[in-house]
Amino acid sequence: MNTGLNETHDPNLKSWVESANDPNTDFPIQNLPLCVFLTHDEQDDLDFEAQGVLIGDQVLDINMLLQSGMFDADEYNDVAEVFERPDWSVLARKPDMVREARRVLQRFLRDDSIGGQQVRRLRRKSLRSISETRFVAPFLVANYTDFYASIHHASTVGAMFRPDNPLLPNYKHVPIGYHGRASSIVVSGTDIRRPKGQQSPPDDNPSAGPTFGPCKLLDYELEIGALIGPGNTLGEPISIANARDHIFGLCLLNDWSARDMQKWEYQPLGPFLAKNFASTISPFVVTLEALEPFRCPAEPRPASDPRPLPYLFDENDQRTGGYDITLEVYLQSADMLKRGLSPIRLSRGSFKNLYWTLAQLVTHHTSNGCNLQPGDLLGSGTVSGPTPESRGCLLELTWDGIGPDGKPKPRKPIELPSGEKRIFLADGDTVIFKAFCEREGFRRIGFGECRGTILPAL
Ligand code: CA
Repeated sequence: MNTGLNETHDPNLKSWVESANDPNTDFPIQNLPLCVFLTHDEQDDLDFEAQGVLIGDQVLDINMLLQSGMFDADEYNDVAEVFERPDWSVLARKPDMVREARRVLQRFLRDDSIGGQQVRRLRRKSLRSISETRFVAPFLVANYTDFYASIHHASTVGAMFRPDNPLLPNYKHVPIGYHGRASSIVVSGTDIRRPKGQQSPPDDNPSAGPTFGPCKLLDYELEIGALIGPGNTLGEPISIANARDHIFGLCLLNDWSARDMQKWEYQPLGPFLAKNFASTISPFVVTLEALEPFRCPAEPRPASDPRPLPYLFDENDQRTGGYDITLEVYLQSADMLKRGLSPIRLSRGSFKNLYWTLAQLVTHHTSNGCNLQPGDLLGSGTVSGPTPESRGCLLELTWDGIGPDGKPKPRKPIELPSGEKRIFLADGDTVIFKAFCEREGFRRIGFGECRGTILPAL
């Protein structure tokens, strides 16, 4: 359960893994994100999946600690059960074990932990470099729901279609969402094939009829994914006071979007093939426990906004239900890569600007009795902030507003250091999301990366 700050958040803790003490690392000893990686069994010549946590520029192989007998004593029975599985599904079901697992792993990784020759050997054996490790999803994503919780995103996108009335009347009352597809969720580093689909007839020639072909307006959406922990029984809603206990941790999520297909298909039932061809998650689960120091008040609502209905309102959630997570998007074209030019930053925003909190999303999702299951993924929706630099997709970033003739102005291209221009994504482009949390008096923690490269349509 999320019970506030404790000794695992102590900013003075250091690790014997030197790279974890670098002030700029995403993965100091206070973070310990969970991952699953592929490892090779020499004897059977087989790859298998194993649990790890990230520390500095290394992965700690938990299986190696288990094999060494580190968790044989009775006091470790519960935590050993969590560590014995190839993925994190058991821990997700037991949120009260998260802090215990953190404590046990921190104890091994602390620079003041005592150890003889045997421990020193185990330290060497149980580490592998992140850059040489292949990661897979931290556990099987069972179901995927995508929300629309950023009012700044909803307002900007709404203004493209309804300049006088950007926000639909339900927005401030009900968290808007739709059911996505879990089968096409891929892990960071997986290439993304440009989808083909139906596109609307040109605006100036509606009688021409739709066409079918490669998407021309391919976009990313910068989101945070919430991975569900215990979840609820069908028919039994989760109350807002308990909602946060059902979130296991957060990851980065890129909800790739085919804007031309979306525009043609979304009415009246919402997104379909424009969204479900691929969604990328970062492979590391940053637990809510690790994020405790970075909780903040929910985004204040103007006094003229309606108060949420009672089932969506909780004083405590209003005070501490936000998370101050800085989110960044970078782009590197194939030409930039070839010429050795670093990815450029397209935007920077914060997760704290969302109109609805994570607890409100969980509560609303289950309010009709719908059951959330361990491993379900809830997307926040594109995280955009109030300023143009904090827009979380190209649809918003290259939008230049409505002209004096009442029609949209031509989109404003983004200039790349290679001299190329982008309005939407080109083949060979790599999109990279990063996220981190900083607060005075605490260690900076980060989420690692969520990246994908666009392949040409088949
Ligand atoms: Ca989305």
